[in-house]
Amino acid sequence: PARRLRGFGTTVFAEMSELAARTGAINLGQGFPDTDGPDRIREAAVRALRDGRGNQYPPATGVPELRRAVAAHQLLWYGLDVDPDREVLVTAGATEAIAAALLALVEPGDEVVVLEPYYDSYAAAVAMAGGVRVPVTLRPRDGSFRLDPDELRAAITDRTRMLLVNTPHNPTGTVLSAAELAALTELAVERDLLVVSDEVYEHVVFDGRHVPLAALPGMRERTVTIGSAGKTFSFTGWKVGWVTAPARLVAAIRSAKQYLTYVSAGPLQYAVAEALRLPSAYFDGLRENLRVRRDLLVDGLEKAGFLTYRPAGTYFVTADIRPLGAEQSAGGDGAAFCRALAERAGVVAIPSSVFYDHRAEGAPYVRFAFCKRIAVLEEAVRRLGARP
Ligand code: PMP
Ligand code: GLN
Repeated sequence: PARRLRGFGTTVFAEMSELAARTGAINLGQGFPDTDGPDRIREAAVRALRDGRGNQYPPATGVPELRRAVAAHQLLWYGLDVDPDREVLVTAGATEAIAAALLALVEPGDEVVVLEPYYDSYAAAVAMAGGVRVPVTLRPRDGSFRLDPDELRAAITDRTRMLLVNTPHNPTGTVLSAAELAALTELAVERDLLVVSDEVYEHVVFDGRHVPLAALPGMRERTVTIGSAGKTFSFTGWKVGWVTAPARLVAAIRSAKQYLTYVSAGPLQYAVAEALRLPSAYFDGLRENLRVRRDLLVDGLEKAGFLTYRPAGTYFVTADIRPLGAEQSAGGDGAAFCRALAERAGVVAIPSSVFYDHRAEGAPYVRFAFCKRIAVLEEAVRRLGARP
């Protein structure tokens, strides 16, 4: 591969799903639900296919129905006024939105601050854009992973172009607090930074409500907000995502996007438009279903001897393996632990070190996904609790 891609190899998610398939283990690694989203939305996709809506290239920014639905969603949920024609861009999942935003807005050599541990595509997207990744580490404090405003400030230099933020946060499950958001946004305004805010888990917040960065003072004009139908409607295979941002930023991201994929699947866009207009009962159901699953898995992990950080959002829980003891935890090395766990217990998890530049910081943590059927989680807990 080209130098800028060296070291990226295969994504850990593909690798661990392959390990699960090979060993027959329960896959709590890659974050995808084992139950599809609403039937009515699946049927909307079938209808669009059958009626010939979107079977040929849709408009470059996405079908108008979906752009209008995204704008209506931002207004209804967050009071954000978004112009569906100039301030919305439909993408091939949030992954493409992230890559296109980086390619469009980062000059070679620009520094991009990311919250570490970070979702793995951030590192690759920054690298493909020729940017320099500057990680700011979230550290455990009183039961959750928190951002230190002083460390954040210290990471900003004259070369900093962008903050690439994620809340609710994968893999820690942290929902940034009002104080953390204020620290981020005040710095962004003061230093005139762009902010790319990955909010794909916006509807998976267990306490309180999601606060989009774009809704905070001085942020609207500098923030690129990213959403995903994969996460919000449990159709990760559809790869429909969206960006909302000021028109000048959308225009730039659109330039990059049109030469990556040009457009994403037309018929699915009509179905996602319908999904975004689902009544609030759908969104409540998504969250409450996941809350039960969170508690089942977290309680099970605690009983099995892990130290866990009960997530405030997302469908992931981070666990510290060190309390399992030197032998069980492979000396506190999450990567070795996860490899052994698949064979030993028949459960696959993700070693969090892959989300860190400071690998040693991440070594003792592993991430489990709980977007799975209750029976599957119960079996996983049983296996994790059983001593070999
Ligand atoms: N951002 C985060 C934080 C994620 O966890 C994921 C994985 N679902 C993505 C982006 C990518 O989303 P998509 O599947 O829509 O490309
Ligand atoms: N976002 C999902 C996760 O964090 C996986 C996405 C992928 O496989 N690329 O597990």
